[in-house]
Amino acid sequence: MNAITMPSSRAYNVIDHTYDVVVVGAGGSGLRATFGMGAAGLKTACITKVFPTRSHTVAAQGGIGAALGNMGEDDWRWHMYDTVKGSDWLGDQDAIEYMCREAIPAVYELEHYGVPFSRTEDGRIYQRPFGGHMKEYGKEPAMRACAAADRTGHAILHTLYQQSLKHEAEFFIEYFALDLIMDQEGACRGVMAWNLEDGSIHRFRAQTVVLATGGYGRAFLSCTSAHTCTGDGTGMVLRAGLPCQDMEFVQFHPTGIFPAGCLITEGARGEGGYLTNSEGERFMERYAPTAKDLASRDVVSRSMTMEINAGRGCGPHKDHIMLHLEHLGADLLHERLPGISETSKVFAGVDVTKEPIPVLPTVHYNMGGIPTNVHTEVLRPTKDDPDATIPGLMAVGEAACVSVHGANRLGTNSLLDLVVFGRAAAHRAAEMLKPGASQPSLPPKAGEASLDRFDHTRYAKGGTKVADLRLAMQRSMQGHAAVFRTAKSLTEGVAKMKQAWGGLADMSVSDRSLIWNSDLMEALELHNLMGSAMTTMASAEARHESRGAHAHDDYPERDDQNWMKHTLSWCNAKGDVTLDYRPVRMRTLTNEVSVFPPKKRVY
Ligand SMILES: Cc1cc2nc3c(=O)[nH]c(=O)nc-3n(C[C@H](O)[C@H](O)[C@H](O)COP(=O)(O)OP(=O)(O)OC[C@H]3O[C@@H](n4cnc5c(N)ncnc54)[C@H](O)[C@@H]3O)c2cc1C
Repeated sequence: MNAITMPSSRAYNVIDHTYDVVVVGAGGSGLRATFGMGAAGLKTACITKVFPTRSHTVAAQGGIGAALGNMGEDDWRWHMYDTVKGSDWLGDQDAIEYMCREAIPAVYELEHYGVPFSRTEDGRIYQRPFGGHMKEYGKEPAMRACAAADRTGHAILHTLYQQSLKHEAEFFIEYFALDLIMDQEGACRGVMAWNLEDGSIHRFRAQTVVLATGGYGRAFLSCTSAHTCTGDGTGMVLRAGLPCQDMEFVQFHPTGIFPAGCLITEGARGEGGYLTNSEGERFMERYAPTAKDLASRDVVSRSMTMEINAGRGCGPHKDHIMLHLEHLGADLLHERLPGISETSKVFAGVDVTKEPIPVLPTVHYNMGGIPTNVHTEVLRPTKDDPDATIPGLMAVGEAACVSVHGANRLGTNSLLDLVVFGRAAAHRAAEMLKPGASQPSLPPKAGEASLDRFDHTRYAKGGTKVADLRLAMQRSMQGHAAVFRTAKSLTEGVAKMKQAWGGLADMSVSDRSLIWNSDLMEALELHNLMGSAMTTMASAEARHESRGAHAHDDYPERDDQNWMKHTLSWCNAKGDVTLDYRPVRMRTLTNEVSVFPPKKRVY
């Protein structure tokens, strides 16, 4: 054990570990990477702040997309086109090609690992329609979402955890990763972590660190994400002086239960559910004549908001929309949508076999994150090389931005992203790393700055409670980076976020202990959320166009001439954000398909 002494003369005993690979996060992406690394013979540790099967992936409902064609003709090239169109031409087409092609073997692989998918009459994987997934380049809805009833994430996560145990990965459960360890050449050499159970501090050295820490939905007031979705990976990357990408693109899911915010899967509309306004009108027929209620999420969320703004919202305050499932019949609801039937009863007091569910667009997914290439290696773009990578660092899952979702993610494409790129990370590591290769010793002061920050937070004695500061941040984000944005709302949003950031200096943490100190953990999570929130607001303010989930009232059109580019954002310790841009990758990996040039997006 090493003892590291703080400037304030407090000493922390630090326990050192060495692995070939350390994966931070045990959601779908982290587990897929973990067991793939283990299977390749690499000594792999997986660090997670919650028990693996409690990661947010467990809550995924509707399905995982793959053009299996089990229920009508399908083609991965149609899936690719839909994903490019869904991304509003901001997705990197090489990565999208890779994901949609690999989707088919990846889903069969899951089936063989033991995922209990729902079945067709003849025993094949059941598939349902989902928003934005179409046949023959946009003609009619495709049956592409492979589903295990409405508990697909639960089924996948449990199977992946079992596989990880089988491949002898070592788990560090209820360990909170604090910061990356970077060396002077700018390579990542490991990660610092705090054991929540006994308060010990750990320094992990590895040939490669994989960040799989999930999204940052909790930067907003109302979201479908778990309380653990606090953008810890993006926080770590920003503190290491690295950029995040496309943070302005935040997905609002059309059907969060009003007002609780819990999700009703898009699979409900896939099974035939539809939306109505206060006049009982199926208004999506006006906004998206072909796809109707199954248009992509940004389009449906905007249409709902426009109905409410036009005074056609439901309820005494005309502030929500109704989702109808009652016509589908109790048998189908029981077999295909049991989970959401229960959620509606608990959170809205609604019996879905008899009455509609009140719903409202709710924050659901972060398209932006840590930029990577198609092999999941983290990018540090330079002027000469927009695709330059950082040695020793990978990112996967919602924390990453490959970018396959661009400006708007299609439903079912996140579960897919997790397994396809979790697997890609394992393949890349197997190619690049030698099991047990000797590693240079860590830089002399490795981890000290991180412990300094940790100690400073632990003894913070300002006047503002963590919960109050978090609420101020969440209100600013919900109010100013919402479904519709204006120059005025975003400028005010940046100012409010600056103010919230200033509050970090006046934060108070009342519990000084190191064991199960949730007060301290929430303070550290807030710090991570703030970085994600600041970069989101600043990137949104700068983007003068409307694309995908970024609907800017003062610039209502998409502007490919000036804005078909990824935003890169850096955030320093004072909360100042610097922006730059990198080109969208308009190329494919094989000649089995050609690039889809931008065109107008209609559903
Ligand atoms: C309600 C809901 C339903 C959804 N339904 C679908 C669907 O049907 N289809 C679809 O494709 N997508 C769906 N999504 C999206 C999808 O589920 C998520 O994007 C995806 O599961 C994220 O997985 P992940 O592996 O990136 O991270 P997560 O599953 O969020 O896991 C993050 C992991 O990181 C760990 N972690 C985080 N910070 C730290 C830290 N500091 N130290 C240590 N560990 C840390 C956590 O412990 C956890 O293990 C849904 C999302 C929600 C919220």
